Amino acid sequence: MAEFQEISLKKGREKMLSRRHPWIFSGAVAGGMEAADNGAVVIVVSSAGNYLATGHFQKSSIAVRLLSFSDPAIDQAFYENRIQSAVDFRKNVGLEPKDKDTNCFRLINGEGDGLPGLIADFYNGLIVLQYHSYGMHRQREFIETAFAEVMGKSAHGIIGFVQGLDIVGINDNQPQDQFNQGDGQEVTETGIKYLINPFKGQKTGFFLDQRDNRVLLRQMSQGMRVLNTFSYTGGFSLNALKGGAMEVVSVDSSSYASEMCKINEQVNGFSGENHEIVTGDVFEFLKEDPREFNVVILDPPAFAKSRKKSHNAVQAYKRLNREGLKKVKKGGFLITFSCSQVIASQLFEDTIRAAAIECGRPAKIIKRLGPGTDHPVSVFHPEGHYLKGLLVHLDG
Ligand code: SAH
Repeated sequence: MAEFQEISLKKGREKMLSRRHPWIFSGAVAGGMEAADNGAVVIVVSSAGNYLATGHFQKSSIAVRLLSFSDPAIDQAFYENRIQSAVDFRKNVGLEPKDKDTNCFRLINGEGDGLPGLIADFYNGLIVLQYHSYGMHRQREFIETAFAEVMGKSAHGIIGFVQGLDIVGINDNQPQDQFNQGDGQEVTETGIKYLINPFKGQKTGFFLDQRDNRVLLRQMSQGMRVLNTFSYTGGFSLNALKGGAMEVVSVDSSSYASEMCKINEQVNGFSGENHEIVTGDVFEFLKEDPREFNVVILDPPAFAKSRKKSHNAVQAYKRLNREGLKKVKKGGFLITFSCSQVIASQLFEDTIRAAAIECGRPAKIIKRLGPGTDHPVSVFHPEGHYLKGLLVHLDG
């Protein structure tokens, strides 16, 4: 294995690998970090020099993102296998590129699909990649060729972005023009159309993780007054309209999001008469708008980006949920989310309890919510469970 750069672990640390967590922190490393190139494929060896795993090295606190525990070669065939199995199981759960009802979904969910550092979303033939590690970005040719091989005719383009890396821009030869001219790619999610623009939008252009929860809202919207806060391009709002809501109010601080929300409303043929789109701050809206609603959705951006910030984030979630709860009519519902990786499910639930206590309302958890089947989480990597939500009923 002389052709691979080696990262050796401190004595006794090889046991960690039996837990199959996909990250090796720099504190566990004895040697090899100085010599290794940022983003190189490295093999991880025990203090006795035995092969343990292969991964991408990065000069950061996560020193190695593990890709394989058996296979030193990380080449195009490796990526093809991983991508093929990701595509296969999605088909088994009803997500297929050519499906008429839903032609957008997450294709690769990082660690959950055995590819730490890589996100891939499928938008009706367009694959949008996010490289979160130098290692993935260095192997982008393998990766993009592997996607083209596996997806064949069901994909017509690939765009690659870097995320949180010190590399400027996007890959070469990208289909940028269609996005600079228009509003982008049209996709269908559970029968509702959206325009996606990966160059202007957040994430890869759309929040695919909320698909099932949007459908849940649709099922409960008949005749309801619905407040959708942090509405982005209208995912929840359009589902409420489709479900027969009497009135929908969408609130987002981004004027791009509001514009897209309006366009998406029109693309789907809704009149807009019973849909008010407010461009503004949610906290101010909740303080100032006197209306009450049957259903209130709170889907804020991640308040905590790191563990250090989690205390402040908990306070912000509590405040937001307290104000949101006040807007729910008796007998109504709160649908509330956190997408902060560092806020675990139990802590989130405790925070909602604290908010309900503060506003003195009897609240019942009816359902615990999460992302759809295209967002697998490795059992060895619980940190991957970032999106958590609660459907709460208020009977008083
Ligand atoms: N629910 C959305 C996704 C929400 S993403 C969906 O299903 O697609 C979070 C959104 O919150 C972003 O659109 C961002 O513009 C908006 N946002 C962030 N801070 C805000 C604030 N203080 N007030 C209003 N909107 C805010």
